[in-house]
Amino acid sequence: MPETMSIAKARDAGAIGSQVILRGWVRTRRDSKAGFSFIELNDGSCFGNIQIIAGGELDNYESEVKRLSAGSSITVSGTVKESPGKGQATELQAEEVTVHGLADVETYPLQKKRHSFEFLRTIAHLRPRTNTFGAIARVRNCVCRSIHGFFQDEGFLYIHTPIITASDCEGAGEMFQVTTLDLANPPKKGPEIDFAEDFFDRPTFLPVSGQLDAEVFACSLGKAYTFGPTFRAENSNTSRHLAEFWMVEPEMAFFELDDNMDLAERFLKRIFRDVLDQCPEDMEFFNKRIDKTVLETLQGIVASRFVRLPYTEAIEILKNSGRKFDFPIDWGTDLQAEHERYLTERHFKCPVILYDYPRTIKPFYMRVNDDGRTVRAMDVLVPKVGEIIGGSQREERLDVLQERMAEQDLNAEDYWWYLDLRRYGTVPHSGFGLGLERVIQFITGMANIRDVLPFPRTPGSAEV
Ligand code: ATP
Ligand code: MN
Repeated sequence: MPETMSIAKARDAGAIGSQVILRGWVRTRRDSKAGFSFIELNDGSCFGNIQIIAGGELDNYESEVKRLSAGSSITVSGTVKESPGKGQATELQAEEVTVHGLADVETYPLQKKRHSFEFLRTIAHLRPRTNTFGAIARVRNCVCRSIHGFFQDEGFLYIHTPIITASDCEGAGEMFQVTTLDLANPPKKGPEIDFAEDFFDRPTFLPVSGQLDAEVFACSLGKAYTFGPTFRAENSNTSRHLAEFWMVEPEMAFFELDDNMDLAERFLKRIFRDVLDQCPEDMEFFNKRIDKTVLETLQGIVASRFVRLPYTEAIEILKNSGRKFDFPIDWGTDLQAEHERYLTERHFKCPVILYDYPRTIKPFYMRVNDDGRTVRAMDVLVPKVGEIIGGSQREERLDVLQERMAEQDLNAEDYWWYLDLRRYGTVPHSGFGLGLERVIQFITGMANIRDVLPFPRTPGSAEV
């Protein structure tokens, strides 16, 4: 009995001599003058295709095999042979070819060898059939597995935080509202919409972060992480912002800022190491076709130590750089992408963890330092992408937290449960958020964040 096999396995020399069944989608068909055809087949199990030799003796050679083109789907059974060709260990001599579906050469959009990423975004349902998007899907899968592997090995609990929330983690706008009210005719209380009539008796939103909920579990069970979709209605049409993205957020009781930095550094290195080990073929492709520095960069980072730099010193470096930035920089202003990139790409040429930011530019929950002007924030910056991780030691002192909330005009009553964590058995604790798409962008060298997830959501775009 032939064994149903993945193409990844059939491409390995160990498969030579096996009777196998392979299934997948045709990439190309070439006919030889000698009366047989070469079919390149891919099934998503690996970057490479397998070459199939389909001879004229097949019953359906003229009627079907010779009509196969890019995008057609087939099942082939045959024998794996050693390949005389270069760059491949094996090939398949077909004994039977079953055609599931042809793909009309006149209309199938993926005929050309290379398409622009802009064009491919308009056919998000077909782009996973290209080399680039297949490789991204496999790398993304590897990163997710690595994320869970890392936290499970470190003794964290995986928790699920809600997708509908009444709290705004940053204490600022930019959220999508969730409502069942009739938008054409909403209930009114005076001139205002009466959200007491809404499904949850109050306004609710899609979360910008799961951090506050994760803190609940860290402050009860020690170490927890949440990993799920996050939503931001910011109208920023940049190459590193999505309206819907995935974020992994660990939260740890008894961790101070240094422990938090150590964890973040260990975490990133583990992800990079796993991708280098588990996706060598895909990474070769990115290195060759997308960005010639990605392999060297990842290997360098795995072996290096991240620079740790207080915000105040970073400002000095930027001011003394002699550079003209589009956004002027001074103590008290937030860093823009151009500043982040100067530090990681030009000045240090490695990842940089910036910490101790001015309290005025950071959210209320970050722990205030003894100097009173700065908070225990940390951002991990990497070349090209800029900020990849944002985190902090959290404010565990009830009175200071209340003061900070007042300072940022937040209503303490809305956060009564969050304040309770400081009221009953408070502990020092820390956490951070890593944007999944940012890390995949960094690993693959893909220029636009819309090309590292299956179905990007950006302003004005939610087709497939
Ligand atoms: P930025 O300044 O780059 O907009 P941020 O300061 O708003 O980021 P945080 O609120 O700290 O980011 O979010 C944590 C992490 O989530 C970021 O370090 C980044 O990796 C990722 N992230 C934030 N906003 C987006 C977005 N709109 N699309 C994709 N990833 C994002
Ligand atoms: Mn932002």
